[in-house]
Amino acid sequence: MINERITDAVCALIRKISIRLPDDVSNGLSEMAKREDSPRAKELYGCIFDNVKKAAELNRPICQDTGALQFFLKTGTKFPYLDDAEDSVREAVRRATKEIPLRPNAVESFEERNTGDNTGTRAPWTEWEIVSGNSDLRVGVYMAGGGCSLAGRAKVLMPLEGYAGIVRFVFDTVTEWGVNACPPLIVGVGIGACAPTAAALSKKALLRPVGSFNPIAKIRETERRMKEGLDAIGIGPLGMSGKESVQCVNIECAAHHPATLAVGLSVSCWATRRGSVLIKSDLSTE
Ligand code: SF4
Repeated sequence: MINERITDAVCALIRKISIRLPDDVSNGLSEMAKREDSPRAKELYGCIFDNVKKAAELNRPICQDTGALQFFLKTGTKFPYLDDAEDSVREAVRRATKEIPLRPNAVESFEERNTGDNTGTRAPWTEWEIVSGNSDLRVGVYMAGGGCSLAGRAKVLMPLEGYAGIVRFVFDTVTEWGVNACPPLIVGVGIGACAPTAAALSKKALLRPVGSFNPIAKIRETERRMKEGLDAIGIGPLGMSGKESVQCVNIECAAHHPATLAVGLSVSCWATRRGSVLIKSDLSTE
């Protein structure tokens, strides 16, 4: 059943994130622009900020590709409207597609038919996390653009390939595909026992704010060194060369099997669109 208040809250969230950049991304890009010294890189950042400003003035999405919508629902076991959550989110997507508007990007596989409203079989993609004893619902959303999704990969390495194998995989993929993904990029890396775990963690890594660091020192240091190395490739803003190519590298890990070391890679573009809304048990929102 559709709960209008949940639908309203999620629709408002989609509107907000499709039209304005998250503060961490916007601030990070401004700092990167200041660090560039070539006129071309500076001009390209100027185009990005112009684009963002015009989107706000015209109340329109910051990119024509409004992506595939992906939801991360973190629900308390005591949230009273749990039965309505999924239907309400789907309805919010339909409504947002029409009202904002968003480009319809859901094409049914094999039929190759665009559904016209960004919903379809398992679309929007929804992941659930259950929190015992809690009575709130947090709805997180990420809009995955086509260009940046092209770089997504997951692979299971032999454990002897080690962390050097993970670094090689990430660098090879970003070198080959990073330019298609409208840099500067957010690079999400997932590590775990199998490909689906690593892929899911790499997407989760994209949701971590720019400027945040993994609390584990070895992982934090790897994030820092990978950013340094990827910047040195010189892809630059919009792939036209520059001092920095990535906004950050975020790594999320799960324990792996002794015989496997799986790595997943997800990439997000300069127009990273993500955010969340907290819906409380009385349906008030934050
Ligand atoms: S990669 Fe990002 S900025 Fe580029 S077209 Fe796709 S959504 Fe837009």
